[in-house]
Amino acid sequence: ATPTSIMVGTGRGAELGILFRKGEALQLLKEAKVVAVDKTGTLTEGKPALTDLDLAIGFDRAQVLARIAAVEAKSEHPIARAIVAAAEAEKLHLPAVETFSSVTGYGVRAQVMGSRVEIGSDHYMVLLGLDPAAFARTAQRLGDEGKTPLYAAIDGKLAAVIAVADPIKATTPEAIKALHDLGLKVAMITGDNRRTAEAIARRLGIDEVVAEVLPEGKVEAVKRLKREHGRLAYVGDGINDAPALAEADVGLAIGTGTDVAIEAADVVLMSGSLNGVATAIALSKATIGNIG
Ligand code: ADP
Ligand code: MG
Repeated sequence: ATPTSIMVGTGRGAELGILFRKGEALQLLKEAKVVAVDKTGTLTEGKPALTDLDLAIGFDRAQVLARIAAVEAKSEHPIARAIVAAAEAEKLHLPAVETFSSVTGYGVRAQVMGSRVEIGSDHYMVLLGLDPAAFARTAQRLGDEGKTPLYAAIDGKLAAVIAVADPIKATTPEAIKALHDLGLKVAMITGDNRRTAEAIARRLGIDEVVAEVLPEGKVEAVKRLKREHGRLAYVGDGINDAPALAEADVGLAIGTGTDVAIEAADVVLMSGSLNGVATAIALSKATIGNIG
């Protein structure tokens, strides 16, 4: 491409709310074969709400919710905010918490009123030596509904299965369609539950799902998708996405995302929606086109 065509394309992008931080990205985008997308905060609002709380026999709803909310009040995860908001809505008093720690990609734990409280995925429960099988049917149903099932353990006993649901952004379906219309494959990469991810992917017509990845696993997924499909664009918003954004041929950050993601990206989508990706690729094809 000529320096002039890159300048023109970059200028046009800025008008459309697409900031090219590297001119090279404008050239590479037109060759993209697959777009890999983070789920939480990119396809979805990133603002989950608590939808379900099923208790094991012998546990009291208010007591369990107060304890887990007290622990989650120490966490920054969107799931945590959903649980705290639910407890606040029920005007529950949150007890004091000691020795909080988070197990990245799995969950959180702390001491609350002399009890050990652990909250997280089924994998986290297995890691703790607990068997989530008793709740498996409920968890599967919740996943199939596109909700994220979570488990709470109190003093080493499974106390509840919880679900949070994160609404799909209103702009996401048309953005996926626009990418398909450009002949691209769309893949979702997420740390979330497999059934949940697959239910959301089905609703959106997403071609491939990589679920239950640990934060470092996103890079491995990007490498594999590149080998299998060719040039890859990655879209994400979170701190977790920075390594994948760097590994992609072109990394695009959602403008409303974290500074870490924006710093790691080649392109910033100011609109905060996925729509900018198809626009950026179309722009690359139009301005670089056959000139370069
Ligand atoms: P993602 O950003 O795709 O949700 P994460 O690695 O942040 O991926 O989280 C993966 C999984 O770990 C979540 O789906 C959830 O099951 C569990 N998890 C992480 N943080 C928390 C938390 N604060 N409370 C409960 N579960 C959590
Ligand atoms: Mg995200």
